[in-house]
Amino acid sequence: MRGSGAGSPTSRRSEVALLRHVILDTSAFIQGYNLSTDEEYYTVPEVLDEIREDLGRMRYEGARASGRLREVSPEKKWTDELEAKSRSAGEAHKLSLTDRQLLSLGLLLKSEGKEPTIVSDDYSVQNMAVRLGFNFVSQATKGITKVINWGIYCPGCRRKFDAPQEDNVCPICGTELKRKPRRG
Ligand SMILES: [Zn+2]
Repeated sequence: MRGSGAGSPTSRRSEVALLRHVILDTSAFIQGYNLSTDEEYYTVPEVLDEIREDLGRMRYEGARASGRLREVSPEKKWTDELEAKSRSAGEAHKLSLTDRQLLSLGLLLKSEGKEPTIVSDDYSVQNMAVRLGFNFVSQATKGITKVINWGIYCPGCRRKFDAPQEDNVCPICGTELKRKPRRG
């Protein structure tokens, strides 16, 4: 949870040294996220496509029109890097296109020397955010407190795997693999 920031728009340009770079996902617009003057906001265009609620769309479009919300589509360089890192973390198949774009945007911001904070209620996004060295803020849930290491197993033949498999399918029997948090 964040404190209540000044929600009203301001004409004063804020050049605060400790500006937080906040990436907003779909839930931030649906639930409402108070824009604060000491934060800079980013999102990806795919988020707007996901917002069905009028109020959520108004929040998005209002923030964009005020110039406070920057819509950025990360280049392939960043989506490729995210793809590789989410695969090795076993999260690749859990992330939607929007999730991947948001996390790729975080990689882009980090490359510019910024410390991205992702506002997301999605556990896989939060887990990847921690792995990539981003901060995250959860609005509806408490959020994860540590990085989850997923154990991958086959519900068909009961084999266990240390690493994600091609197409998330058991190479022995072809069953779709499942995963559970590994202990410790
Ligand atoms: Zn199997």
